[in-house]
Amino acid sequence: MKKVCVYCGSSSGRRPEYGYAARSLAKALTLRGIGLVYGGASVGIMGEIADAVLAGGGEVIGVIPQALVDKEVSHNGLTELNVVASMHERKQVMMDLSDGFIALPGGLGTQEELFEVLTWTQLGFHKKPCGLLNVEGYYDMLCSFLDHAVEEQFVKSHHREMLLAEDSPEKLLTMMEAY
Ligand code: AMP
Repeated sequence: MKKVCVYCGSSSGRRPEYGYAARSLAKALTLRGIGLVYGGASVGIMGEIADAVLAGGGEVIGVIPQALVDKEVSHNGLTELNVVASMHERKQVMMDLSDGFIALPGGLGTQEELFEVLTWTQLGFHKKPCGLLNVEGYYDMLCSFLDHAVEEQFVKSHHREMLLAEDSPEKLLTMMEAY
């Protein structure tokens, strides 16, 4: 993988561990020479991971719609910032630029982005790996819900298995590279 897209909160969350995890994922990416693609904001976990990749000398590409440039305070120190026309274009550009996708803890926007990319894998529109960095068990309930959806026969087990989950960035990236 040359570039990985990270979906994550525009908020920082309640625990400092979420920020630590963003920084340790940033370190793991830069050590492997993998560039970061993300939503281009300077706030929350989004800003935290971008700053950490830049500080480690890595490449960061931000993709942000014009309408959010002020609201999410677009980051002005990135390797590249693409200002696009809409949320849909943002997600498409982020997907096209990236060789894999990771969700860190985040809110509704993060879930929406993760599930869109997963449904595109399910439909066979791409074959890129998708992973959850399950920091402090933040995504335990989501994983249980997906298992429940398999039990209830709304999700096929091979589709459930498309979502890799780990609590360590190193392990997650290794799984994704082997995917
Ligand atoms: P959140 O996880 O809600 O803090 O949002 C994380 C990022 O997802 C932010 O950059 C939001 O702009 C973005 N986002 C929010 N809603 C959507 C959506 N419907 N589609 C794509 N991205 C979104």
